[in-house]
Amino acid sequence: MKKTARVLVTYDCPRDCPNCCNNHIGEILEVEFDNLLKYEELVITGGEPMLPEIGPRVVEMIHRLRANGFTGHIWLYTAELNVKRWADKSVLSEVTGITYTLHYEYTQRDITLLRRLTEYLHTMDTTDMHNRLVIDSRLKDEFNWSDFNLDSWDCVRWLEWKDDECPVPENEELVFYDLEKE
Ligand code: SF4
Repeated sequence: MKKTARVLVTYDCPRDCPNCCNNHIGEILEVEFDNLLKYEELVITGGEPMLPEIGPRVVEMIHRLRANGFTGHIWLYTAELNVKRWADKSVLSEVTGITYTLHYEYTQRDITLLRRLTEYLHTMDTTDMHNRLVIDSRLKDEFNWSDFNLDSWDCVRWLEWKDDECPVPENEELVFYDLEKE
């Protein structure tokens, strides 16, 4: 068993990124809740795990993990955090950190959410967190990024979109966890 589980909690996503990994990811091992407790750290991802109908269940999942003694790091990969929503604010106070992605085919709403989240991180005590912002490198010249006050992020990475590569890091196991399950 590997140290880290990359846990898909949904395949749903409103975006349509060309060559999304989920389109050719193949069959993924589905795990029960108790299996999650055996890993040293968890990376929650999707699809989009913070869709309004899914985010609250992700918060419940994290609460349940902690209530059952899981002490490892929990990371969240998302491209949609709306800090005006209860679940989205909650998740930020529960995880070790987030990786937040601004995709090439962004909407005005994505920009609003990014600005709002960035401001919100400024108001939080993030000393024990590690939050990473990933921006599609094709957007480098799209904005004056210095206006975004991005210093609340621990790291800003420019993503070179690759159409045919979805590597899972060597120390990670890719699994699916069904949030509907007891
Ligand atoms: S945001 Fe992620 S999950 Fe959604 S379509 Fe794009 S690559 Fe796929």
